[in-house]
Amino acid sequence: MSSSRRSHSEEQFQRALKVIPGGVNSPARAFGAVGGHPVIIDRGEGQYLYDIDGNRYIDYVGSWGPHILGHRHPQVVFRIEAALKKGTSFGAPTLLETELAELVAELVPCVEKVRMVNSGTEAAMSVLRLARGYTGRDKVIKFAGCYHGHVDSLLVQAGSGALTLGTPSSPGVPQGCTSDTLVLEYNDFDQLKETFAKMGEQIACLILEPVVGNMGVVLPEPGFLETIRALCTEHGTVFIMDEVMTGFRLSIGGAQERFGITPDICMLGKVIGGGMPVGAYGGKAEIMDTISPVGTVYQAGTLSGNPIAMASGIATLECLKETNPYPQLEEKTQRLTQGLVSAASKAGLPHTLAECGSMYTLFFNPDKVTNYTISARNDTDRFARYFQGMLDRGIYLPCSQFEANFTSAALTDDDIDQTIQAAEEVLQEIA
Ligand SMILES: *Cc1c(COP(=O)(O)O)cnc(C)c1O
Repeated sequence: MSSSRRSHSEEQFQRALKVIPGGVNSPARAFGAVGGHPVIIDRGEGQYLYDIDGNRYIDYVGSWGPHILGHRHPQVVFRIEAALKKGTSFGAPTLLETELAELVAELVPCVEKVRMVNSGTEAAMSVLRLARGYTGRDKVIKFAGCYHGHVDSLLVQAGSGALTLGTPSSPGVPQGCTSDTLVLEYNDFDQLKETFAKMGEQIACLILEPVVGNMGVVLPEPGFLETIRALCTEHGTVFIMDEVMTGFRLSIGGAQERFGITPDICMLGKVIGGGMPVGAYGGKAEIMDTISPVGTVYQAGTLSGNPIAMASGIATLECLKETNPYPQLEEKTQRLTQGLVSAASKAGLPHTLAECGSMYTLFFNPDKVTNYTISARNDTDRFARYFQGMLDRGIYLPCSQFEANFTSAALTDDDIDQTIQAAEEVLQEIA
């Protein structure tokens, strides 16, 4: 049934395969983990996606995070159209860049100054160089299961539990690139303290997702962010929060506002561009002024601060500021997740659900997921069947168990009821 309803998608994906590696421009879009082929999207409208066969889906991906307002929000479309009339790129300053920078500085607690780039990956690459240039140190702490884009030195995985001196997890990353990367287990207080005690004075920066979205949603245990803040201050290490996913999502000021812990530097992406390619990094002026042209740490970009992208970002942040959708979004998400949990319980399926604000993951795992080692035990075969069942019922979920699901302000109570109804059927089927 399912594949005939999506016959144009099937056909057109075969065409893409001939000229695009794997048919996709980012591997996260491939259906490798769930089987079958990606759905080819024609358009988005509010909370819905429409594929090229004319099927409608309730969208819980939101382009992997940016669309907290839903697709084609009128204010965003209006600002993009206005900017488009003036030209697409100048390679010279515009007022739009200052406007978006002012908004970010106003809304995000740690940001005094901010630099725009074009993706989260670029932001990650830049903050590492910045922290190393600022401190004159080389070592970097990251946590297993946290994703910071496809930067060479951060593409490393941890051995289970023990402190691992980074081994590249992709061919093409030379050992030398990762030899200064220390990989720790998320939420492991002892390992964190030991590492700082042993070599704190060599550590340029610690980078983490304040709420993880990239091994499924994993929350920091109480005191974890506080402990990191204190250790970084004590040892002169730059504390970097990767808020590419959580920024403007967990609250208007991101996770740092929600948890009341201010990092030295943060990275932004996804929501900040409202669907256009924008990344950013910002923080204390004293650190940010280490970058060129004020300081000597080099970082540049032909299309950075692109006017169309800035217009989209400004409209998105202004709309979030004016409408404060967060309390309602959280209520809606909770109604949805309670429905999912009760459906999974009724079906007798081992599960655990993690959520924060408008991000959640239903794990096919009986244990609470607090780190990568536990997340690695998820039942991914069962997830694949859940995913396909939901897709057939018009519910578009991330095509991996290790991703966050996102709700948008455009989602209605009806959509949520439909989603819960679909989940009840599918979870019974796969139990
Ligand atoms: C998506 C993401 C990135 C990478 O951003 P891109 O724009 O895809 O390069 C980095 N960090 C986190 C936490 C992300 O979720």
